[in-house]
Formats: sequence, C-alpha cells, structure tokens
Amino acid sequence: MHEMAICESILGILKEQAAQQRFSRVQRVCLEIGPLSGVEIDALRFGFDVVMKDSLAEGAKLEIDETQAAAWCMPCGSTVPLKQRFDPCPNCGSHQLQVTAGEEMRIKELEVD
Ligand SMILES: [Zn+2]
Repeated sequence: MHEMAICESILGILKEQAAQQRFSRVQRVCLEIGPLSGVEIDALRFGFDVVMKDSLAEGAKLEIDETQAAAWCMPCGSTVPLKQRFDPCPNCGSHQLQVTAGEEMRIKELEVD
C-alpha cells in the first residue's frame, strides 16, 4: 500500500527531527495534503496508527489540512481553482492548464515533548 510507504517516510522524518531538536515524543502531526497528491486520506490515517506503533510517535494525533488545487490557464492568463486533475478551466473551458498547487504532501506542524 502506497500510504504505508508515506507513513514510513513520515516516521523517518520524525526520527531525524527528534535527533536534531532533542525531543522524545511526538504528540501531534499536522500534514498538508493537496487534492492532486494522489494520497488517500483514509488509508493514510489507518497506516499512520500502524506505522507509529512502538515508535516515538505512538498514539500521536494526526491532523490533515487539505489544501486547494490551482492551475495556470494560458488562454485566460490567470490562476484558476481546480477540483481534479484534467478538469477544464472553469472560466473558459480550456484544457491548457498547468497545475500550480495541489500536488503537495508535507509536514506542516509538529507538537512534541
Ligand atoms: Zn481559462
């Protein structure tokens, strides 16, 4: 499962941060996830609890901040909101869109002890 691998990499980052910043417990993890990142949030939540078990982040609260996707429309010459990848421009119906936001997946905040 793709989301398991994502959780493993989050745990790796948490361990690195813990060594650098000298904390031993993670209480809360806030992730920023774009609608075009391909991450399934339910699967991620499930994987998170499994992967964090017996680690410094066991029982940590997972918060997910879903961001908005946006794209640059060439015919309109402006940035337009996007619901899904390959959607046409909501203003002019063009498919000449370049995604500018919504593909991100990053740790936004950590609460630690
Ligand atoms: Zn347009």
